[in-house]
Amino acid sequence: MAAVPDHTEQSAALFARASAVTPGGVNSPVRAFRAVGGVPRFMTQGDGSHITDVDGNRYLDLVCSWGPMLLGHAHPEVIAAVQAAVARGTSYGTPTEPEVLLGEEIVARTPVDKVRLVSSGTEATMSALRLARGFTGRAKIVKFAGCYHGHVDALLAQAGSGVITLGIPGTPGVTEATTADTIVLPYNDQAAVTAAFAEYGDQIAAVITEASPGNMGVVPPLDNFNAFLAKTCTDNGALFISDEVMTGFRITRSGYYGVDGVVPDLMTFGKVMGGGFPAAAFGGRADVMAHLAPEGSVYQAGTLSGNPIATTAGLTTLRLATDEVYAKLDQTALTIQSLVSTALDKEGVPHVIQAAGNLFSVFFVESTDGPAEIRDFAGANAQVLPRFGAFFHAMLDGGVYLPPSAFEAWFVSSAIDDDGLAEIESALAPAAAAAA
Ligand code: PLP
Repeated sequence: MAAVPDHTEQSAALFARASAVTPGGVNSPVRAFRAVGGVPRFMTQGDGSHITDVDGNRYLDLVCSWGPMLLGHAHPEVIAAVQAAVARGTSYGTPTEPEVLLGEEIVARTPVDKVRLVSSGTEATMSALRLARGFTGRAKIVKFAGCYHGHVDALLAQAGSGVITLGIPGTPGVTEATTADTIVLPYNDQAAVTAAFAEYGDQIAAVITEASPGNMGVVPPLDNFNAFLAKTCTDNGALFISDEVMTGFRITRSGYYGVDGVVPDLMTFGKVMGGGFPAAAFGGRADVMAHLAPEGSVYQAGTLSGNPIATTAGLTTLRLATDEVYAKLDQTALTIQSLVSTALDKEGVPHVIQAAGNLFSVFFVESTDGPAEIRDFAGANAQVLPRFGAFFHAMLDGGVYLPPSAFEAWFVSSAIDDDGLAEIESALAPAAAAAA
């Protein structure tokens, strides 16, 4: 099937209006297509594995709202549960039953003893850091280059995702004082961690890492890196914070924890646990969580935290996310990786595909003689970005919506069926040729 460029008149008109009232025309930077060029598509509908834009173009969706839509769009049971919850009222600012049920589900699926619900992944990591500092009485934190933990001031240093997509090393507005206590180390580099602890060990409150990074593209931990981090923290009286906002409830019923079994002191969650609504969480050891207000004195709060609609959507999603669903997601992801690899090999396009469970990304590299594995941010930065742009647009024209950046994971949903895989396969042939 030949790729047909989309009509984009309606999206272009909305983008012009959006740009008049919103910086860059978008409410989150990477939606803007800055890295790949062209008109960002304004979506108006989702059904199962597909999304449809305002010009009527229909796409097989491999972004899934940047992760949350594990079951696909408008899943009938999620929609029914949300509609029933909405009909009763939307927010009370009091405790409600759905937040208890969601809390219990998270505690049952993960190693956390206690959990606090918030509204975004950013809030979760920000609050986890504050709690770690309050608990340990220490100031410094360690993060890794290429990991993205939301737009928390102290963590916007050499961050992945939209920060690197736009080529911003840090960001104006974050003062030097704010990041003075942030130590940024190369990912997967145990020697660098050991050296940092040798110098600052008694001042480090926490090490925070993506459980398996997906924000510089998928760069999994090597050589038991998470276990090494957990032990280093324990040996030095620091807390190990595993950020599972992207991986949590997505790659196994718990997250990357289900792959490597490393028990962190604190964890952060978001995306899938909100079922397409704003819900996120942080949780961990009971003795650490006990320091949180109102039990303890580390303050943290939120008007819409544990919102009954968001928690209903998240709970319904998690209850539907059975082992069979995860097995299907794994199989779908493997099939897509193999289709991509076959198409790119046919055109002789050098590439590396890396995966963590059903999360994966495709790196366009200089040559096949280069390193077979991308281990860190420097490796991810060595991609041939124009190749990705050409590939992205050809896929879009072929009816497949990919993340509009080479520094992102591709997200599958359990709604992708054999027809969807066939759509991906037919889009891939011209896209591989475009990337050659
Ligand atoms: N942590 C990780 C690993 C993420 O991938 C993200 C978002 O992509 C965040 C934190 C921030 O979450 P949110 O965008 O909900 O603030």
